[in-house]
Amino acid sequence: MILSPRQGSESCRDNLPNRTSMKLQIQHLSKTYSNGIQALKNIDLTIGNGLFGLLGPNGAGKSTLMRTIATLQEPDTGSVHLDELNVLTKKHEVRKLLGYLPQEFGTYKNISAEEMLNHIAILKGITDKKVRRALTHRLLDQTNLFGVRNKKLGSYSGGMKQRFGVAQALLGNPKILIVDEPTAGLDPAERKRFLNMLSELGEQIIVILSTHIVDDVEEICSNMSIIDKGVVKYTGRPLDALETLRGRVWKKTVTKMEESQFDETYRILSSRLADGMIEIHVFSDNNPGVFEKTKPVLEDVYFAAIKNYLPFEA
Ligand code: ADP
Repeated sequence: MILSPRQGSESCRDNLPNRTSMKLQIQHLSKTYSNGIQALKNIDLTIGNGLFGLLGPNGAGKSTLMRTIATLQEPDTGSVHLDELNVLTKKHEVRKLLGYLPQEFGTYKNISAEEMLNHIAILKGITDKKVRRALTHRLLDQTNLFGVRNKKLGSYSGGMKQRFGVAQALLGNPKILIVDEPTAGLDPAERKRFLNMLSELGEQIIVILSTHIVDDVEEICSNMSIIDKGVVKYTGRPLDALETLRGRVWKKTVTKMEESQFDETYRILSSRLADGMIEIHVFSDNNPGVFEKTKPVLEDVYFAAIKNYLPFEA
């Protein structure tokens, strides 16, 4: 399902996303499902304008948090406010300000992107044909789909479908856009294009990007949280997190067998294949042996937070 605000018959200019300054405040949010899984544990987060990355492994609680913010499910305790608006009790008003692209969404196959957007715009009450046309064309342009607007949605690639999902979510001029794991399954070029589009949107409204892909956050997010097992492990700027790790990440190229031995002795952050060998990054305040100091990357931050190597301020 894609939620987007209800639309009046404003002029197209009124539908352009305005640069707004809003704040989403999440306090003490907890959720335990009926099977006993505690998906969110006392989450506190403040999210302002710009592109915010919610980074965490599968099962971390990202979708639960996104769905709660999108008014689609209730927490057990805690509060969510968009400025003064109580998100948990004023669902109807919040939905007018919110665009949500869920992890999976279906769409009709035998209709073109332009026809579909036009149709949704009619459902949203935009009665003036010219206004509707200008609005749908602007959204198709913004999501890089203008050239393929007459193609059937069923023929769209994964990336095109995702961008169409964003166009739909933007139809009501939301002040906050939530996208849940949008880049999973996209090829590198499509992923880049999608992230660029989000980055541009983030200049105007709050965009929350939930992802398990560290590179998504590294490339475009001005702020982020790392979440694991329902707990926020870090909140801040990616650059500040990298700064915290500076001088404490050491690298060494090892064999596969050495890697498992090192794993018992050292606090390994990450490992990657390089020329048939494995380059490991180790967290340590001092050179842990015959290692070479290396510049931290966001993946190091991610694992330092998840493995609790660093008491990052949450
Ligand atoms: P993420 O989006 O980070 O992968 P989720 O919010 O989907 O995480 O899930 C967090 C935890 O809650 C997982 O352990 C998942 O299995 C569990 N969970 C999610 N939705 C439900 C549900 N409807 N009923 C029971 N458990 C759920």
